[in-house]
Amino acid sequence: MRRLSIFLLLLAILSCNNYEKPDTEGYEAANYASFKRDSVKYVFDRINAQQRYSYYIQYLPIRKIGKLQVFQGDIIINSNIESGRGIDSMILDSEIVQPYKMIGVSPLSKERLWPRHEVRYVISENDDTKERISSIRQAIAAWRNLGIIFTELPEPSGDCIIFNVDRSHQFNLSPIGRVKGSQNIILRKDVSTGSIMHEIGHSLGLWHEHCRPDRDQHITIITANIAPSDLKEFKPIAAAYSYYLTNYDFNSIMHYDPYAFGKRGSDGKAMITIQTKPAGKIIGQRSAPSELDRAGIRSMYNLP
Ligand SMILES: [Zn+2]
Repeated sequence: MRRLSIFLLLLAILSCNNYEKPDTEGYEAANYASFKRDSVKYVFDRINAQQRYSYYIQYLPIRKIGKLQVFQGDIIINSNIESGRGIDSMILDSEIVQPYKMIGVSPLSKERLWPRHEVRYVISENDDTKERISSIRQAIAAWRNLGIIFTELPEPSGDCIIFNVDRSHQFNLSPIGRVKGSQNIILRKDVSTGSIMHEIGHSLGLWHEHCRPDRDQHITIITANIAPSDLKEFKPIAAAYSYYLTNYDFNSIMHYDPYAFGKRGSDGKAMITIQTKPAGKIIGQRSAPSELDRAGIRSMYNLP
């Protein structure tokens, strides 16, 4: 009875016959041309046949927001990629086939978890952020009370989150887990306290509940009510990258609401895009991390 959307995304190498690090940058894009998008496992040989590696790769469709590459609506992918350090995994960009480094949280290596469950953070000094400072502190308190240590820093130093409210942004954004160095949680000017809790959940290592690979047993995505360009925001994570500690949780703060990315109907209201099974379950709450969210984080970080 444990769950959690800690996705073991791209904790790639399954079988590696050689402990030497593969030189992923050395592969020409053409080498990947025959990769089927969304295939879960690829095995390929280097020219030297003795170096044979198996990779898990998932095609992650992204939205570009300025310089940011964003997955599933609010997950900043590029900071995870750029900070990857020779991890033997990759993702494929939506436009170009391109090798990348690891993204996501690896519960095995703890690579993306905050050491000693301590999250260090800075609250940006800009005026919009100052306006939201009490909401940010309340959101932090919701996670702190289950044992995560939050340490505020006067200025960025080492691995830390920078909370930054930015009126030019239409989305709240966060990477997944710790990405090394300073990382941003970017918040809209009108962000709610609950939405900040959701973004902090990502920075702690949680993925979206409604994008678990088993989600189709629990919800139906009503694609007819979603603009084609937004369909990619509902892309589930492949099972090979997933790691759950708990059961599917309609009440998760990491679940989207029923109208997320809905097209506008003739009445001007967003149309339903996520139908629960059975119908009528409440989803998309932003009051507090659910019991299972908390259980998952406790398990990830070995908290009592
Ligand atoms: Zn999210």
